[in-house]
Amino acid sequence: MDFTLTEAERELLGLGREYAEREIAAVAPQAWQEERCPTEVLRGLGKLGLLGLLVPEEWGGIGATTVGFVALLEALAAVDPSVAAAWQAHSTIGSLPLLLFGSDEQRERWLRPLAQGSALGAFGLTEPSAGSDVRSIKTRATRVPGGWVLNGQKAFISNAGTDMSFGVTVLARTGEASDGRPAFGSFIVERGTRGYTTGPKLRGIGWKALDTRDLFFDDVFVPDASVVGEPGAGLQQFLGALEVGRISIAALSVGLARGALRLARDYARQREQFGAKISSFQAIQFKLADMATEIEAARWLTYYAASLRDAGEPFRKEAAMAKLKASSVATQVASEAVQIFGGAGYMLESPIARFYCDAKVLEIGEGTNEIQRLVIARELGC
Ligand SMILES: Cc1cc2nc3c(=O)[nH]c(=O)nc-3n(C[C@H](O)[C@H](O)[C@H](O)COP(=O)(O)OP(=O)(O)OC[C@H]3O[C@@H](n4cnc5c(N)ncnc54)[C@H](O)[C@@H]3O)c2cc1C
Repeated sequence: MDFTLTEAERELLGLGREYAEREIAAVAPQAWQEERCPTEVLRGLGKLGLLGLLVPEEWGGIGATTVGFVALLEALAAVDPSVAAAWQAHSTIGSLPLLLFGSDEQRERWLRPLAQGSALGAFGLTEPSAGSDVRSIKTRATRVPGGWVLNGQKAFISNAGTDMSFGVTVLARTGEASDGRPAFGSFIVERGTRGYTTGPKLRGIGWKALDTRDLFFDDVFVPDASVVGEPGAGLQQFLGALEVGRISIAALSVGLARGALRLARDYARQREQFGAKISSFQAIQFKLADMATEIEAARWLTYYAASLRDAGEPFRKEAAMAKLKASSVATQVASEAVQIFGGAGYMLESPIARFYCDAKVLEIGEGTNEIQRLVIARELGC
């Protein structure tokens, strides 16, 4: 296990943390209340080179290790989980299909702007009737001369409707494979393409700064040049990108939990009841100690999964374990943190309320925790 950051990654982490504490912290609470994606700070992260962390320099990115990526994500999420959610969706599922499976022409045209920070990436898998059961998607791609025509709908797609969204990489049914099972392809659909429209920004319990929408495809023509990899290999591409996405959700969870712990500890050290700081009550101390211990356990699982990917080892089981553990820890820690704040923590204006509301989706997005358990059980041979 090697969790060591390179010198360059330590510098990037410092740069990202400083930007988050100065710039993101200044706009995030208001953006959350207004339910607005603050693309000005995403652009700011892009100017620092931080929108292409996992993309090699050859394609305009930084080429950090997965451990380096996780460290920065943890730092961003500790300041604001929903801006960090937009950053992580862009950096993993929004960019990786192009990096891992795209042609050089596609990387030049679409990945470079994503990595250089002028555009935001999105990943369109989920549909109204197909969430956990990804093979049941209905969006259809029909072969026509020179390309494909897409028809269908996607649900809850992040980063597709902001003023810096480039479009979406979308999964659609292309027909049947030789064994009779459905075949799927990945298609790049640019914003402004005829027949491609986005619904209004959806209103969630949390992640209010994240732009999440339904997408509609009505006879959308996609040229052959916009098909990512082999037309029949789309599902494997999407599932591969999701494995990295799970490490990313785990890191987001660890960061959120750390941020919540810090807020709760600081509050406990200044709030007085019965003539004493509440941090002097053992009941509060035990809560904080348990929260810190659980966070550290989740953190080790997350960095371990990241280090396996960096070492070129299989990491499917560990990524699922990290996501399962860390997201559960995040919801528990955020809930305990609100408890420590008492009534003040229940009010939406309170910073801890934001963390509490942002936590729940971590147990749902990029594969629910029930699905993570199924993945782990399969890897155990069940
Ligand atoms: C804020 C937000 C952002 C999102 N962003 C994106 C995005 O950018 N791109 C994208 O493609 N998707 C995105 N999603 C969708 C997300 O990945 C799905 O919501 C998630 O995979 C679950 O699918 P579902 O909501 O349809 O739930 P369902 O699959 O309908 O599940 C409902 C419940 O049944 C359980 N369940 C289902 N099957 C089983 C089973 N076999 N065994 C046991 N329990 C089971 C689930 O665990 C869950 O508890 C986003 C969702 C949210 C909320």
